[in-house]
Amino acid sequence: MTVRLRVAPSPTGHLHVGTARAALFNWLYARHTGGSFILRIDDTDRERSTVEFEEDILDSLRWLGLDWDEGVGVGGPHGDYRQSSRYDRYREAASSLVESGAAYYDNRTAEELEALRQRAVAEKLHPAHYIRRPEETWADGAIRMSVPQEEAVVFEDLVRGRVSFEARDIDDFVILRSDGTPTYHLASTVDDVDYGITHVARGEDLLPSTPKHIVLTRALGAAPEPEYAHLPLLFGTDGKKLSKRHGATSLSLYRDEGYLPDAVFNYLSLLGWSIDGDRTIFSRDEAIASFDLVDVSRNPAVFDPDKLAWLNGEYIRAMDPVDFARSARLHVEGAVGRSLDEGEWARFEAVAPLVQERTRLLPEAGDQVVFLFEDFAEYDPVAWDKVMAKAGVAGILSSARDRLATVDPWEAGTVEATLRGMLEEMGLGAAKGLQPLRVAITGSSVSPPLFESMSALGREKTLQRVDRAIGQLAGTG
Ligand code: GLU
Repeated sequence: MTVRLRVAPSPTGHLHVGTARAALFNWLYARHTGGSFILRIDDTDRERSTVEFEEDILDSLRWLGLDWDEGVGVGGPHGDYRQSSRYDRYREAASSLVESGAAYYDNRTAEELEALRQRAVAEKLHPAHYIRRPEETWADGAIRMSVPQEEAVVFEDLVRGRVSFEARDIDDFVILRSDGTPTYHLASTVDDVDYGITHVARGEDLLPSTPKHIVLTRALGAAPEPEYAHLPLLFGTDGKKLSKRHGATSLSLYRDEGYLPDAVFNYLSLLGWSIDGDRTIFSRDEAIASFDLVDVSRNPAVFDPDKLAWLNGEYIRAMDPVDFARSARLHVEGAVGRSLDEGEWARFEAVAPLVQERTRLLPEAGDQVVFLFEDFAEYDPVAWDKVMAKAGVAGILSSARDRLATVDPWEAGTVEATLRGMLEEMGLGAAKGLQPLRVAITGSSVSPPLFESMSALGREKTLQRVDRAIGQLAGTG
């Protein structure tokens, strides 16, 4: 049997990290088994589905490096893989279920159904307990499944083990509304059957739907039934269900903030799964080789943006320096506010390996080097108060200025030797003697290492900036 898995996002919002994690686990299992991964788009909510969201979903999956063998955008033997294209098929399936007696038309009014619901609630029964096939029969209206009451629905969940639902707790759910539109249960199950899906791995929030899908699958005469794997829900670090309150929950925001797809891939794969022991960093190929749905944990997974940022930093440090510089360029130019010419680019490349060491997210790379290309408008007030507003700073700056004026050649090593000589002669520690220069050069107290920064900035600019700081200290700057 060839394994076939799918992810089925609804284009009613950006690709959520929870759906991205589900997509990733399905993809990993498909790649691990040599099976197929399918992208279906669940766009039956015509009011809320948009083309832009669908594009965001496809782009985000591609950015993450997940490719699909069939589905929206790539085609395959099952049409365009959008549910909105398959209404005729869903209606035909619903009619065939009425014909076989597995489903029935229901023309009861909302009030009648509500009265039945209230009766059940009053008797402390499942709210849908009395919503069963009535005596009266109709030849049109909504179509409801007639859930067999003889036996419980039991299945072996690959993650959760044996799961059992009492038949009396499964309502006679609507599969086709009276306006002819399918419900999620019908559309999803018919698609899973028609597309030959062998494993349905999706969020645990959908667990209550699964017995309905099993009832439907059986009534449709599909064999074998797919296996199910319900993936643990994602929580924030505060233990609450992941939501917008916890910050960015759409994948495209992470992309826009400069995260690397490999780091996000690695992080998402840790949400409910681990490779071996407590190893955190691994490649896609290693994940593919080890991944199995049965190893997914039942415990809730915590989505921790700080850990993701840390992991991203690890990936940035592991990048080839040339790739890093190339990837950072957009962000550097963004921070500078214009594109860089060849000479300026060379200046960035000179410090790029040092910036790489200090970067967790690509845009931070830009912020660290703006001073190389533009005079800053003002000094960071915190840095100024902490470092510059101290006795002796003006003297240090002038002494440094005089010595820097004669450094030859102008390189990080010679600049360093000169300034270290100065520290020694003046009996100054590195922090006291060099921090004022850093603030003078960069406007802040955070930057790539000082000597390399000065070297990349060039002598003329360095001296100008030292002069500017001296002037500011004298109250004339
Ligand atoms: N469109 C559904 C969702 O986004 C898919 C659920 C499923 O995987 O069956 O929640």
